[in-house]
Amino acid sequence: MEHCPECGNLIEDEGFEIGEIIECPECGVELEIISINPLEFEVFEEEEK
Ligand SMILES: [Zn+2]
Repeated sequence: MEHCPECGNLIEDEGFEIGEIIECPECGVELEIISINPLEFEVFEEEEK
């Protein structure tokens, strides 16, 4: 389990796959799964500007 880097909300592992984009239920930030065991993710930022 890990916590959202933006709001600290606990994100539970629900069978994610590497490369999957999930959305934090608390703050709505998009997170890209980069590792499954242990679960790790980083904020997914679309290229804009
Ligand atoms: Zn969050």
